Amino acid sequence: MSSYMKPLKKKLRFEVNLVEHCNLNCIGCDHFSPVAEEGFTDVDKYERDLIRLSELFGDDVSSITLVGGEPLMHPQLIEFIKRSRRHFPKTGLGLFTNGILLTRMPAQFWEACRDEKVVIIITNYPIKIDNDKIRQLTGEYGIQLDYSWENKLKTMHKLVLDPEGKGDVDYNFKKCYRSNSCIFLQDGRLYTCTVAPTAHHLNKHFDQKLEMSEKDSIDIYQAQSANEILEFLRRPIPFCRYCDMHTKIKGITWKQSDKKLTEWYLTDEEKKKRDFWRKVRGIFGRK
Ligand code: SF4
Repeated sequence: MSSYMKPLKKKLRFEVNLVEHCNLNCIGCDHFSPVAEEGFTDVDKYERDLIRLSELFGDDVSSITLVGGEPLMHPQLIEFIKRSRRHFPKTGLGLFTNGILLTRMPAQFWEACRDEKVVIIITNYPIKIDNDKIRQLTGEYGIQLDYSWENKLKTMHKLVLDPEGKGDVDYNFKKCYRSNSCIFLQDGRLYTCTVAPTAHHLNKHFDQKLEMSEKDSIDIYQAQSANEILEFLRRPIPFCRYCDMHTKIKGITWKQSDKKLTEWYLTDEEKKKRDFWRKVRGIFGRK
């Protein structure tokens, strides 16, 4: 039984995948989209989850972020926007995109973003998109546009998974920037991060056996209160045993995925380094 907890959040904020696959496919994507089969979230099921969350949290949902895969690929994207706003009139509503499809979106999309006060956030990948046109369109419609990684060269952090699953869940959860932060809604359940709910794509594509269980998430229909959910989200989950938060591999030059397992698992060379540092930690009696 784990004892570690992150600070209790006062409000919920969550993200939701509209589309599992992507039109860009970044190396080491932490939603595993490069190896995901085509998949679209059902907007009616999503709305049921919104209704349940609004019963539990009322106005205490600070933000909802529509993500993917690439969310602009969902044919009912406008419905996701409208229904999110219908059930959460005071909540910040964001749309995270790689921007590739933005200049081809119809007027109804821009009107929905304007009317429902959606903030469009583009991750600044080193790819060619027409930022002048995008700025012109968002300006014309009066839509807030933000860039993540603006004025910086986008690099990637490797999400290191260890299929042996012998990691210390408390340590990994504590050191993880996603835990209790990148909260994820999927099929009526909330997860403390984006990794546990999407790693099934890796299992399927590479025939891996990372185990997932109901203990990795909380059922929003079984939960009795908002507090019960917030308490769950601040604690480690069994899946944390697969994340290796000791091994930090940062600053990877962005490129498209080659769909290799070593984008998420360590290469032989990286394993040697990990084993060396494990030994050093052992000598000093550190975890
Ligand atoms: S499973 Fe645990 S350690 Fe891994 S990303 Fe999620 S919260 Fe972080």
